[in-house]
Amino acid sequence: MLALVLPTAAALAWAPGPALLRSNARTPWPSVCRAPTPHADAERQAPRATSLIPEVLKEMEADPQVGVRPTARERMEERRRRRRALNAIGVPKFARFVEQQTGEALLRKRSITILQVNVGLFCNMACTHCHVESSPRRKEALSAEHVDHILALLAASPECRTLDITGGAPEFHPDFRRLVSGARALGVEVIDRCNLTVLLEPGMEWAAPFLAAERVRVVASLPCYSAENVDKQRGNQVFDRSIRALQKLNALGFGREASGLQLDLVYNPGGAFLPPSQSMLRDAYARELDSHFGVTFNELFTVRCNSLCPWAARSP
Ligand code: SF4
Repeated sequence: MLALVLPTAAALAWAPGPALLRSNARTPWPSVCRAPTPHADAERQAPRATSLIPEVLKEMEADPQVGVRPTARERMEERRRRRRALNAIGVPKFARFVEQQTGEALLRKRSITILQVNVGLFCNMACTHCHVESSPRRKEALSAEHVDHILALLAASPECRTLDITGGAPEFHPDFRRLVSGARALGVEVIDRCNLTVLLEPGMEWAAPFLAAERVRVVASLPCYSAENVDKQRGNQVFDRSIRALQKLNALGFGREASGLQLDLVYNPGGAFLPPSQSMLRDAYARELDSHFGVTFNELFTVRCNSLCPWAARSP
């Protein structure tokens, strides 16, 4: 933001007034005299940056109408006026316009069928693209009471048929098993957003068999089928560990035909570009992972997920 605002302000401050423009038109700058550079002149002329807030507050005090929110009735009347004006020039209603353009009706509110819960930010990795900036340093987590509330909410919401658990690495949460088993007992499908390497962490040996026993759907990140790309994005040894975790899941039946244990992979591009075609990439993943490592899976999803943190990029 600073980079965008400062040059603009500097350029405006330097912009010559009418007198200077006239003088320039007649006489070029004498050779001994340097034309003022925008930068030097801006430094002399630009006022110190100040906040606009005091000025705005003053204006609001002077004019009682500034910043006053319209009543519901006034808003409705304003909408009617705008609609009449748009009708007069033949602009269709937005919903009809979308329908005309896409052949489909606008999205309509329906009942909630999936509840996604982020149980905590602790993670054994610190990926460059992590949009929640999870890492081993993060300690934020849902409390046991929160978990009670989620289970109570699911019990009271018969239309909500899926619980989608994410983190961090959700398996590290002390109440992860209670949450999963509680939801499964209610007949709710559970999705575990798994980073794979967590399954190989010391003390986490229970995780993969537990996921299989509860018939949890595992959605696992694997940003590429090449070790180099995965390690660059997620850290050293992550590819190797991810493959070992996938083999462990396969051995339990995940991603194997007729087992009913779903294992999906997620691809996230490692640079500033959009993912390629999902079906094309799925075929490439299936071929490469099966031929090199004997790994199979069900679906591959492509996403574009990025950290908003400017310091998140991993050093090469
Ligand atoms: S992207 Fe997933 S695995 Fe990577 S740091 Fe974030 S939560 Fe952990």
